[in-house]
Order: sequence, then structure tokens, then C-alpha cells
Amino acid sequence: MSLADLPPLREVIARHRLSAHKALGQNFLLDGNLLDRIARVPGKLDGATVYEVGPGPGGLTRSLLRAGARVIAVEQDARAIPILEELSSAAEGRLSTVHGDALEQDEERLAGQGAHIVANLPYNIGTILLARWLTVDAWPPWWASLTLMLQKEVAQRLVARPGSDEYGRLAILAQWRSQPSVAFEVNRMAFVPPPKVTSAVVHVTPAQAPEGVAVRMIERVTAAAFGQRRKMLRQSLKGLPGALDALAVLGIDPTRRGETLTVEDYVGIARELTRGK
Ligand code: SAM
Repeated sequence: MSLADLPPLREVIARHRLSAHKALGQNFLLDGNLLDRIARVPGKLDGATVYEVGPGPGGLTRSLLRAGARVIAVEQDARAIPILEELSSAAEGRLSTVHGDALEQDEERLAGQGAHIVANLPYNIGTILLARWLTVDAWPPWWASLTLMLQKEVAQRLVARPGSDEYGRLAILAQWRSQPSVAFEVNRMAFVPPPKVTSAVVHVTPAQAPEGVAVRMIERVTAAAFGQRRKMLRQSLKGLPGALDALAVLGIDPTRRGETLTVEDYVGIARELTRGK
């Protein structure tokens, strides 16, 4: 069987008794047009490598394979593995499946430098994986781009601007050396079964990292500044050695609150602290 002759996803799900399990964050996408649209977000995939988390019955995987990608997919649900094996033979081996927990994989070793990450993520681990991919040490990172289906609320936090309610740690982690954008929103009724909330596909590409700033310092400063969101910086950053001096050097008023500072302000503070180490 070739990719063009695969049976409809609904039929495959029924034959393999892949009823959706809530604990595994299973909300499947069956609409081929929507899946193809997601697979177009990273750009041309012909000959590229894609790392997919949670392929489930393989709808998105089919679209990625049809776009010409080689796919390495990590799936925790044993029931999906035979389906993915069938898909692998239809794709003449361009799909390799790892049966396991995505949180425990050495992704860079599995997928290799320059792989695109594409996933309709299980929501229970979505933000953990996203934060992990955004905070890798080496930059540019091993991944070429992220194309992720997330809850709309998480997508808004990723692209949020200073002063908005959504602006916080995730915005700074996503914007200080990457460019995040919301590609499009997806109605909850597109999923089987429908989740409670609207989703959105986000696209993140790496940008030039500012000089002299350690990612661990960005993480520490933002954790402190937004851990106590409503507090003034002089209070929230008090426990971070050198942070109040850094505010003085940069001319940032310590009575301001963390949510009013720009991403560049955070980069400046982290740079001062990285230098002082
Ligand atoms: N990609 C499919 C689609 O678009 O229809 C399924 C998406 S569904 C939202 C999430 C998938 O992630 C499920 O197949 C689930 O079994 C899998 N999953 C959940 N937790 C996982 C984990 N820790 N590691 C790997 N896969 C996981």
C-alpha cells in the first residue's frame, strides 16, 4: 500500500480500537485539509527531517510524509504503534517510530541537527516541552523550527507584549532569541473528541541570540520577576544577588512591576548578572 491508498483515519482508529484516552491528552485530528495546512506551516519539507511528538493514529504524520519529510515520531500509547508501523511501510521507511515518553527522549540524538519539530501536543506536557525547546543551551538550537498545536491561551502567552495580562515568563523565553507567531486558530470541534478550549498553531523560528547572556540567567530573572507578578521589582528581585544593582546600572525604576519591562530590559538585566558571575 502507498501513502495515496491509505484507508480513512476513522476506519484505522476503529480497527485498532484507538478510543481516545483523556489521561494521554488524546484529541485526534481527522480533517485532511486541516492536517495538510499544519504541515505547510514550517515551509518546504521535501527531504527535511521532522520530529513529531504524539502521532497517535498518524493523521498529521501522513501529511508530513506526503510533504516529503522523513519523520521521527515518539508515541506513548502502545495501541498506536501497529498503525504507525503500517504507515511506515506505506511511506517506504521514511517514518521511524519510538514507543515511549516524549519527556524522556534524547531528542537531538534521535532527530539530529536541523530537524523541524511539528506536533499536535498532548496538552498535559505541551508547555513543559515548549519550555525545554526554548531553553536549550546551544544556539542556534538543534531544531530548525517549532510548529505546535497548543491551547489558544498558551499561544497568546507566547506572543504577548509588555503590559498585557498574558505577558510573562513564556513570552520572554520565546522572544529573547526566537520569533514566535500564531499561524492560525483551530476550532475545538475539529478534534475528536473536542477539547474544552480553542487551540492555535504556533510557529517559532530561532533568531540571533543577544551577546553575553546565559539562558539560565534569563530563566532565573524571569522566574523571580513573574513569580510575584504584582510586586515591585525591588521586592521580587531582592533574592537574586546583583539584580537591584543591575536595575540601577540600566536606569530601570525598581518600583516598576515585572510585567511592564520589555524583553530587551530582561536581556539587559540578565546580561549584567551574567557578567557579574
Ligand atoms: N497527532 C495526533 C493527531 O493530531 O490526531 C494525536 C494528537 S493527541 C492531541 C496527543 C498524542 O500524544 C496522543 O497520541 C497521545 O497518546 C500522545 N502522548 C501523550 N503523552 C505522551 C508522552 N508523554 N509522550 C509521547 N506521546 C504522548
